[in-house]
Amino acid sequence: MEIIKEMLSRGHEQVSTFCDSETGLKGIVAIHNTVLGPALGGCRMWNYASEDEAMLDVLRLSRAMTYKAAIAGLNLGGGKAVIIGDSKKDKSEGLFRSFGRFVEGLGGRYITAEDVGTSLKDMEHVRVETRYVTGISQTLGGSGDPAPVTAYGVFMGIKACVKEKMSSNSIDGIKVAIQGLGNVGMYLAENLHKSGAQLFVTDIDSSRVDLAVKKFNATPVGLEDIYGLEVDVFSPTALGSVINDETIPKLRCSIVAGGANNVLMDTSHGMELMKRNILYAPDYAINAGGLINVSNELEGYNKEKAFNQAEGIYDTLLEIFKTSKEKKSPTNQICNKLAERRIKKVGTLKSFYLPYKKTFKIRNS
Ligand code: NAD
Repeated sequence: MEIIKEMLSRGHEQVSTFCDSETGLKGIVAIHNTVLGPALGGCRMWNYASEDEAMLDVLRLSRAMTYKAAIAGLNLGGGKAVIIGDSKKDKSEGLFRSFGRFVEGLGGRYITAEDVGTSLKDMEHVRVETRYVTGISQTLGGSGDPAPVTAYGVFMGIKACVKEKMSSNSIDGIKVAIQGLGNVGMYLAENLHKSGAQLFVTDIDSSRVDLAVKKFNATPVGLEDIYGLEVDVFSPTALGSVINDETIPKLRCSIVAGGANNVLMDTSHGMELMKRNILYAPDYAINAGGLINVSNELEGYNKEKAFNQAEGIYDTLLEIFKTSKEKKSPTNQICNKLAERRIKKVGTLKSFYLPYKKTFKIRNS
């Protein structure tokens, strides 16, 4: 792979590889953009088939973090780390401490966190070696599980969709089909149930479905039947790529708004939804609560503040919908443009006060 060519085509600032033969650590940090602030993004541990596969993944994921932070109004850039290895066999304290030293060496340009294949415990080893880690457990003064804030942001996003589509401020009686009742899905179900929504739920884990039926009087639905239900909202909160050529013709909802990442299989599916008059809440805008939560930890975690900030997802989505109508362009494309506009505006600000530089209050510093 021609790495610099790939970086230039995606707008990356920096890619750094690292390895340590003692602990078996090998991986890559990609810093996509630091115009808004230090690049924040989780550390993924995955058994990549090749270094090229790992490189492509870290380039793609770090770029997505830039957009997510920008649209959420955070003073953060986008970055990501990948560790090449089997998260079930290759983990050790030494490996994560070695990774922590590498992150520290980047001097704060990149801040790491938990992601697929890494855990809070792994991040605690990382924290021994670097200040530049977030998403630590609450017992250590961190923000803990981000799912409640993510779910609250998705709930506020659904409210914005209902306001836009039905001109209503109330969720009472709104029919919502939730795909996936994991950490985020179950909290989302709770928020919606409390507001009087009627729930239809599915999950590959039947115990999660049983729990939602018992707690929220939800109606259980088959894994494939969830797409074709006559509901107001389809809320994908399990997997990515669920909105695709096969599922779009089945949809009978008027809104797609959920917590999952990469909901659209392809960007063109945003236009397909628009053509069918289905309102789509762009995934990285509606599910930004998790990022909002960990970013709060950098300034000294305050749960109430994190929830208040996640509430802003309501206004962000209304702005996306308004611009989408004005420009007659799909919401996913508008979301990208608004994120890019914010980065561009901040990037062109004149530095009147050069001696002043806002820095985050990072623990241990
Ligand atoms: P999770 O692993 O706790 O939950 C996922 C749930 O989906 C599980 O209950 C699983 O059984 C179910 N599931 C898997 N395949 C399914 C299928 N085919 N049909 C129906 N259900 C299926 O994960 P989570 O933390 O709740 O995250 C859910 C989604 O939200 C993911 O896409 C994640 O990337 C995204 N997300 C999560 C957060 C967060 O704060 N946890 C933040 C932003 C985005």
